[in-house]
Amino acid sequence: PEPAPSAAVPDAGSPDHVLLRRVGTVDPLSLDDYRAAGGYAALRRALRLGPAGVIREVSDSGLVGRGGAAFPTGRKWQATAQQPDGPHYLVCNADESEPGTFKDRVLMEGDPFSVIEAMTIAGYAVGARLGFLYIRGEYPRALRHLENAVALARERGLLGPDVLGSGFAFDIEIRRGAGAYICGEETAIFGSIEGYRGEPRTKPPFPVEKGLFGKPTAVNNVETLVNVLPIMLMGGPAYAAVGTGGSTGPKLFCLSGGVRRPGLYELPFGATLRDLIEAAGGLPEGRTVQAVLLGGAAGAFVRGDELDIPLTFEGARAAGTTLGSGVVLVLDDTADLVATLVRVAAFFRDESCGQCVPCRVGTVRQEESLLRISAGADAAAEVPLLREVGRAMKDASICGLGQTAWNAVESAIDRLDLFGGPDRAASDDIQQSTAAGDRA
Ligand code: NAD
Ligand code: SF4
Repeated sequence: PEPAPSAAVPDAGSPDHVLLRRVGTVDPLSLDDYRAAGGYAALRRALRLGPAGVIREVSDSGLVGRGGAAFPTGRKWQATAQQPDGPHYLVCNADESEPGTFKDRVLMEGDPFSVIEAMTIAGYAVGARLGFLYIRGEYPRALRHLENAVALARERGLLGPDVLGSGFAFDIEIRRGAGAYICGEETAIFGSIEGYRGEPRTKPPFPVEKGLFGKPTAVNNVETLVNVLPIMLMGGPAYAAVGTGGSTGPKLFCLSGGVRRPGLYELPFGATLRDLIEAAGGLPEGRTVQAVLLGGAAGAFVRGDELDIPLTFEGARAAGTTLGSGVVLVLDDTADLVATLVRVAAFFRDESCGQCVPCRVGTVRQEESLLRISAGADAAAEVPLLREVGRAMKDASICGLGQTAWNAVESAIDRLDLFGGPDRAASDDIQQSTAAGDRA
């Protein structure tokens, strides 16, 4: 048997797991093991329901995207399926690159057939005959397991011209990224698959209408797709009863930083940040939580005294933060927050594709300012510039990278009081001068 997945799953084998239930308990290379553990029952039910029935169940389940943006999956599938001009495509976004995110890697390494089965159901629902799985280049083991899963599924008639004798034709091609974070942006994936530079395209038009090769395309994250299996098995309404009204189902959280047992945790929506940190054994004796970065580099900091924030989409929103893709990076009282911010800023500067000015220049200016602070410059004096650059990136960048590149810095200023607290007066001045077109 293969070694265990490359990221820790501290509660592997827990009877409470839904998404992780096979991870660490079945051989990820064996289709027989997968089937013995309930695999392909969801696809059989989907084929009985028909495409419209599958979309109805997914809509009833309340499932929203787990890549970070939480868009309703049923709505996305419905919008793709109803486009008159095909061919329709499905893309599984497995280019998981948000710093601190490793949930999709664990699923792909530890339960690869579930990803292939879920893609087949999604393809059936949206009317696609071909699905692309776009995987991060740095995930060689996950790639190997998925290639094996696709080959075995083809061999056994679970992919190909007549899936399970139903008359439905569907196949999957795997494409590998080459290390660019931006290639996880859904429209940049299209360019990468089509043979162009992986650069984001403006939205709208959304991929449901004009996606891969200009055709209707449903793009779904790995974890989102894997949730479709329990939805098929338990039905949409029963799935919707798990979690909270606004955030249904189970969720994977990637815990890293100062906790005793970092790794991947599965919890139904509704637990608080404190519950999750306690599930990970809390912090070592004598250490306290200084801050938590929620949602990764594109996310936002919360303070150590805000651990009662519910880990739901609505709870995070109400608290002025985000769950993003489920990153929970715990920074203890010894962590150097300025150094963390410099690292985040360097990441965005490095990963900007350079296509649009606010992001290409803004990420450089942001890093420069933070480097000056870290070298001892007056932080409060840098804040107005950071705000101006941040606002320009947020308002005028083409894609999510530029739009979120200032989130962590903004939250460090406003929430953590890192550079002398919120500099509202300076912020208002900038807003006014921007509105008047009075820019230096
Ligand atoms: P987005 O809000 O633009 O879109 C989310 C999804 O909904 C997309 O698939 C989009 O096509 C679809 N959509 C939105 N409006 C639609 C409409 N009116 N009709 C049809 N479809 C519609 O967000 P995004 O830029 O795709 O993603 C941003 C998120 O990605 C951030 O939250 C960030 O946390 C996350 N992210 C995740 C990773 C990772 O590794 N998982 C990496 C980087 C960023
Ligand atoms: Fe490229 Fe940044 Fe513009 Fe996105 S925002 S298109 S990453 S330059």
